[in-house]
Amino acid sequence: MTTELAERYARVESAVAEACRVASRPRGDVTLIVVTKFHPASLIRDLAALGVRDVGENRHQDAAPKAALLTDLPLTWHFVGQLQSNKARAVAEYARVIHSVDRDSLVTALARVERPLDVFLEVNLTDDPGRGGVEPSGLVALAERVLEHPSLTLRGVMAVAPVGEQPRAAFARVRELSNLVRTVAPTATDISAGMSGDFAEAIAEGATHLRIGAAITGNRPVGP
Ligand SMILES: *Cc1c(COP(=O)(O)O)cnc(C)c1O
Repeated sequence: MTTELAERYARVESAVAEACRVASRPRGDVTLIVVTKFHPASLIRDLAALGVRDVGENRHQDAAPKAALLTDLPLTWHFVGQLQSNKARAVAEYARVIHSVDRDSLVTALARVERPLDVFLEVNLTDDPGRGGVEPSGLVALAERVLEHPSLTLRGVMAVAPVGEQPRAAFARVRELSNLVRTVAPTATDISAGMSGDFAEAIAEGATHLRIGAAITGNRPVGP
């Protein structure tokens, strides 16, 4: 195992603890998901040895073979990328949490899997409707669709801070949208927000699930 990996993980972990302290929040309120896209199964095994229990992937084609190699580890797999409805069943074979639910057809597809799944509703914070995520105006209706299906547990909202907006301001908007969802789903209290460059701001605005990649995994390996 590389000491660099252990050091980067320790540095992020202490920065997360410090951001929690500054925000007067218990460290236990925040789940650190290590996003391992671009990296091999061996790196995930090294992370597990360091104590990591939550990992995130954004592409089914990459995630499925890694998950198949690591079934002996006590990991929770989080799917954080855009998800086509026709891949819902295959992704649910290994992922227990889907962070990128953004439309009715995907809710229907995930419900058809008939396996308990936790879901976050991804909100699009940009002005570009082509980006992943439901428009804020459609968020409550989408939450109501999820609530119709007993196999789906609505955990809360997920967002990526847009380029060109202060992350703290973007995450303040996410907190308001979380409050809105809670008017129809009072137990959907979780907020998936914060990446390598902005997790302290996300913690300050109430994030409960951080999705951190490069700050822990290092840069994307150079291909052959
Ligand atoms: C890659 C990715 C992350 C992690 O990003 P880093 O900047 O590497 O921390 C978080 N969320 C999603 C949806 C991603 O695709």
